[in-house]
Amino acid sequence: MNRRKSEWGAGRIPVALPEPRVGLDSDDELLQMLDLETGHRLAVIDLLSTIFSFETSRHVVVAGDRFGDVHMLTMLNRSSYVPPTTAVRLYLFDKGEWDRHLTGLCHWCGRRFVPEARIFDAIRSLTTNLDPQQAPCLTLHDEAFADPGLLAACPSCHGPLQFDPFEVDNRDRA
Ligand SMILES: [Zn+2]
Repeated sequence: MNRRKSEWGAGRIPVALPEPRVGLDSDDELLQMLDLETGHRLAVIDLLSTIFSFETSRHVVVAGDRFGDVHMLTMLNRSSYVPPTTAVRLYLFDKGEWDRHLTGLCHWCGRRFVPEARIFDAIRSLTTNLDPQQAPCLTLHDEAFADPGLLAACPSCHGPLQFDPFEVDNRDRA
């Protein structure tokens, strides 16, 4: 995601990865992976030149140094964390209307996409026995949130995502 960028002298705020609690930070020539809650350093690499900027996309890190060299790094042995996403109908303020499609947000690349029909089929099968007055997010058990039928891959970056077993669509509400 292009916005995940930290430039030297800009405060060196850790850049959060989609993985919970894990972020990246640079300290002169060192690029480090941090536990954002404890501040503990999980991994470090010395690029032997002052790091000016870095970006992440999934498990790839690109860092630029003071000589203009670009370092491509791949993070290995990370957890198999799959970020959650929800099928949501957005209100498009610039058009003054509801989006025609429900979309999910990819937490790897930051893009929204229209889920495959099978995701909506899986949501319907998990919620079919619920009373219309019951909120699925409060009623469904953890197994429903981990249902393999809700696993998807972002069409842009192919990052794995787990859809929530419900939709958020307020288009027909008064
Ligand atoms: Zn993506």
